[in-house]
Amino acid sequence: MAAGVMLGPAMTPPAVAGPQADPAPIVVALDPGHGGTNLGAPGPAAGVYEKHVTLALAERVRALLEAPADPDQAGRRPSFHVVLCRTGDRLVAIRARARCAAESGARLFLSLHANAVPAGVLPGTQHGFEVFVLGPREIEDDAALAALRAPDEADAAWQSHTVRAAGERALALAHTLEDALAHELGAASGRGVKQAGAALDVLRGAGTPAALVEVGFLDDPEEGARLASASGREPIARALAAAVRTFLDPEVANGPSGPGGRSPRSDGRPAAPPSRTHVRGRLQAHADATDRPAPLPPAGAR
Ligand SMILES: [Zn+2]
Repeated sequence: MAAGVMLGPAMTPPAVAGPQADPAPIVVALDPGHGGTNLGAPGPAAGVYEKHVTLALAERVRALLEAPADPDQAGRRPSFHVVLCRTGDRLVAIRARARCAAESGARLFLSLHANAVPAGVLPGTQHGFEVFVLGPREIEDDAALAALRAPDEADAAWQSHTVRAAGERALALAHTLEDALAHELGAASGRGVKQAGAALDVLRGAGTPAALVEVGFLDDPEEGARLASASGREPIARALAAAVRTFLDPEVANGPSGPGGRSPRSDGRPAAPPSRTHVRGRLQAHADATDRPAPLPPAGAR
């Protein structure tokens, strides 16, 4: 985790810090893409830009996730606390967005965006949603970086392990998002889960499963008009909220595994994740058994 880094002035302060009594809400970090002078893709009407769409969408997903559970589900479904990594029309540095997730102890991080066709492609010829996660190379780079920042070898092994685990689980998160969006918008709207093709630096260093969602094309006349209206965004917001619940609910049953993971449940469901000490011990035992130091960052990873 990015210990010691400070949130910028534009950030929502971490709402959850330190141990809490169960049941604690599960923290989710949502990043409304762009903001301030970084307008993002132009929308279908003058003055409407991607930065407006992403903020409105994130606020709606937050409202859906933080809404009280139905009475028949109370006590059985986890509650959520949603941290927005941008709360107003402000420019937020790209690294500060992932730090927002790391500092708040979020169990997942979603960066929300809306698409536009690349230069040279006729607007209106592409539509649909797509989900991006970091590729294996970026994950390995981040794991090496996390190890470099650790104070000792055992901690380095733990830090790189958590980065790799989050990277692997991000792929499951992406497919959960894809399924939920396809359910609301139609499978034909899906453009797939990808590990390249968008600027994914925003996902690096989140310390938790992270995905970037391009919810649709703002420059498609039909899709852009939907994205620019609250009613048109509603199915997307529902899908994103449903995906978060689906992804995190089984995780609660299996126990938290990521950094910042807590057990919000006290209802006796099985939750026996390996402790940090346990994993560190295993990693160290492995290193001892193989007569090699705990995993070190590859040369050139600086
Ligand atoms: Zn964008």
